[in-house]
Amino acid sequence: MKTFELQTKSFEFVNITAQVREAVAAAGVEEGLCCVYCPHTTAAITINENADPDVLHDLKMALSDTFPNREEFLHAEGNSHAHMKSSVVGTSELIPISGGKLVLGTWQGIYFCEFDGPRTRKFYVQVIGS
Ligand code: ZN
Repeated sequence: MKTFELQTKSFEFVNITAQVREAVAAAGVEEGLCCVYCPHTTAAITINENADPDVLHDLKMALSDTFPNREEFLHAEGNSHAHMKSSVVGTSELIPISGGKLVLGTWQGIYFCEFDGPRTRKFYVQVIGS
């Protein structure tokens, strides 16, 4: 398993596709699966559009609309909205590997989603051969 660390801003999607591709290449697995996972409760991993940055902008806007911060929330840390975004988006992605490469569509990128930064974060890439 490979561990990556990153510094995040308050609310952003960081493209981590290149790091995941490197980890897959280093693993030397021809056919298998790649798990990208983050060990956080206010961050997530997702796959989405890598060409038009407006898509990520709109995704952030929709997540903020769906999960606004509310005074009625009980969690004392004040970041319940970020916990909800993390659960809905999910903390991992599982991507097939074929011919030694990630099977990603032309417009797909892998993103680390920060919902409650700035923070120092981690994500892991585990490659499983078949
Ligand atoms: Zn919290």
